[in-house]
Amino acid sequence: MSTDQSQPFSSSHYHPYWWEAAPLYQQNHDLTDLKNIDVAVIGGGFTGISAALTLAKAGKKAVVFDQGPIGFGASTRNGGQIGSGNQKIPIGQLENRFGAAKAKVLLNEGVQMLSYLKQLIAQEGIDCDLQEVGRFRGAVKPKHYEAMAREMEALNKRTHVEFQMIPKSEQHREVNTDFYHGGYVLPGDGLVHPGKLHKGITAAAQTAGVILQANTAVTNIKKVAQGFHINTNAGAIHAQDVILATNGYGGTTNSTTERQIVPVGSAIIATEELSSDTVKHLLPNMRAYGNSARAFHYFRPSPDGKRILWGGRVGRWGDHMIQGEKQKNWRAFRHLRDDMVRVFPSLGSAQIEFCWSGLIGYSFDDMPHIGVNEQGIHYACGYCGTGVTRSVYLGAKIAERVISHQSGNTPFGDEPLPSHPFQIIAPKIVPVVERWYRLRDWSGL
Ligand SMILES: Cc1cc2nc3c(=O)[nH]c(=O)nc-3n(C[C@H](O)[C@H](O)[C@H](O)COP(=O)(O)OP(=O)(O)OC[C@H]3O[C@@H](n4cnc5c(N)ncnc54)[C@H](O)[C@@H]3O)c2cc1C
Repeated sequence: MSTDQSQPFSSSHYHPYWWEAAPLYQQNHDLTDLKNIDVAVIGGGFTGISAALTLAKAGKKAVVFDQGPIGFGASTRNGGQIGSGNQKIPIGQLENRFGAAKAKVLLNEGVQMLSYLKQLIAQEGIDCDLQEVGRFRGAVKPKHYEAMAREMEALNKRTHVEFQMIPKSEQHREVNTDFYHGGYVLPGDGLVHPGKLHKGITAAAQTAGVILQANTAVTNIKKVAQGFHINTNAGAIHAQDVILATNGYGGTTNSTTERQIVPVGSAIIATEELSSDTVKHLLPNMRAYGNSARAFHYFRPSPDGKRILWGGRVGRWGDHMIQGEKQKNWRAFRHLRDDMVRVFPSLGSAQIEFCWSGLIGYSFDDMPHIGVNEQGIHYACGYCGTGVTRSVYLGAKIAERVISHQSGNTPFGDEPLPSHPFQIIAPKIVPVVERWYRLRDWSGL
């Protein structure tokens, strides 16, 4: 094996693999042509584009602004793993926080989100390589397996979500490694090509009449007597309502909500094309995969079954990695390749062909939120890394609220988006917390 650590990255491209099959929308208009706007949607990821689609179908004139190409943020950079979003907070904690009845409502709303996404894909005829293949989550310690079994039983009791426990002795029929101590399968979860999903919802939104304004950053939002005055780097417009959908990429408008979300980096690598037999040998059921560690890793086959995509935290060299040239550094991604080879030693000789990263939006209570802030701006955000289903669903829900002027259409809007005294420095301490998590995973604390 080569001692040159950069060698597996020698032919790497530093952009999302997904952008190859689904290039991002780049066009915009002269803002002086945009009159009588009902809703300005800030952010063109799943939240914004799904909100805009719902608005347009109800006859509202919506403009989606993105500071980059439409969908430049997490929505076209993620792992494309879809699920009912129930795994973020342990059920016991959820019940302690909200009581058993409300926790059950929240859990079932998570199940509803996945159904909504699948329905939308079918209704709009979106070609996004939807694969209803299920998810395997591996236990990184023997004691995690027991905790997983209890958690899955609790989930099933409250939601009827199906699951199967896979003991270590049978693990190879799920994943060809001895790294895990068994795990569980959620057969209802699955995979999409996130770039194609975003492109499909965007196309549906455009057909319904949504105006897309790429490469236009909103800089200031001001409540005026009738609606909002919105400044951008390309001029100003007026709109009756505003939906803020900037999530982990926020921080450049004057909205107070953006400061209540902590951006956390996440990165992915994709191998070169391997033989289909190699991928199928390692991942016999070609599912979505993850682990039980605090420092989470996740992986999947590419939609054509020829590559393995592996994701996890951003590297030390990746703290500044979000935009443009600076992330073109293999050192920001080598820890992902090391983790992948630790789980699948046979991938040690594979070249890494794509490397990229993005920002997840975390709320201070680990819960997604929709609502309206004290500036009168509607928002949906804080999906905490399980955001594909959540953002599409809650984007539609926030649009419904704007249309009807009523709340109450989802329990994720019941609680205020929490602030934190450390919110200004929170992004800076995230890498420290991640290192602490890895240490605890390693030491068993
Ligand atoms: C590497 C990675 C892997 C992930 N894997 C998964 C996964 O497998 N499964 C899953 O469920 N979730 C996953 N997620 C999370 C998921 O992608 C997100 O939760 C979801 O896409 C959030 O969508 P969004 O529309 O709210 O935000 P985003 O897609 O981040 O969109 C926000 C947009 O706002 C724009 N913006 C910001 N400020 C302004 C401004 N001032 N003016 C105009 N535009 C602005 C940005 O350019 C950006 O395009 C992952 C995330 C990352 C980064």
